[in-house]
Amino acid sequence: MTERRAKGRLAITPSLTPRSLEQRGTPARAWQARVITLFPEAFPGVLGLSLTGKALQDGLWGLEAIDLRPFGIGKHRNVDDTPAGGGAGMVLRADVLGAAIGVAMRGTPDARADWPLVCLSPRGRPFTQAKARDWSQGRGITMVCGRFEGIDQRVIDHFGIEEVSLGDFVLTGGELAAQAMLDATVRLLPDVLGNAASIAEESFSDGLLEHPQYTRPAEWEGHAIPPVLLSGNHAEIARWRRAESERLTRERRPDLIADQSPR
Ligand code: SAH
Repeated sequence: MTERRAKGRLAITPSLTPRSLEQRGTPARAWQARVITLFPEAFPGVLGLSLTGKALQDGLWGLEAIDLRPFGIGKHRNVDDTPAGGGAGMVLRADVLGAAIGVAMRGTPDARADWPLVCLSPRGRPFTQAKARDWSQGRGITMVCGRFEGIDQRVIDHFGIEEVSLGDFVLTGGELAAQAMLDATVRLLPDVLGNAASIAEESFSDGLLEHPQYTRPAEWEGHAIPPVLLSGNHAEIARWRRAESERLTRERRPDLIADQSPR
């Protein structure tokens, strides 16, 4: 990336970027994630393994971890300061984050639908499968990982950053949340999973949780596989799976049944 030169100091850490895909007959511009973080060494992390890691290596998507530290102030490259109005902890500075976001958004499409700018936050709207699908249909995403008490509100307002939450709990930083959301998004990109049918049938895709799964051995520790699954009767199997999906969803996630909007 050219950002490295632009700031006169290291702004973007080396990471896996998509190599030219033209020789593979796929579009040259692969889906791209840029993640602003104080811990670029946390990436690609889990995303470097298994199917997402293979896809990263094959250039089906790209990942740049942008180190926030070089944007810091003064000799010590300070990135945080005490909260205005007092209180515990530290807050990531608006000027420092602003500079990093400016670099991270360079060359991205103007339409935010094509390239969302999001910040990981327990205060955000809950992340969903529908959100992963939306993101996977754009060209990429920029994510801001918070640390300490979070980030200066003015940055969120100024850039119109969308706040997204991994769930109703508090993590120490946004990196795990970013990786979780990127995993959910990247596996929906064409050719990453290699088996589109498994996406179509899994939890949330039809508003229900997935039915239980079984495999060999047919009998284990005295537990048999439900006989219908071994019957070879595909209509019966489909009916059983649907009923199990509905039962599990009713028991565990009645909210999914109440909310009939597509997810
Ligand atoms: N003081 C904040 C929590 C800060 S936790 C509050 O009470 O709302 C530090 C950082 O971890 C956050 O800025 C955010 O980037 C990340 N984080 C923590 N919990 C998260 C969650 N549930 N989803 C997404 N990001 C989260």
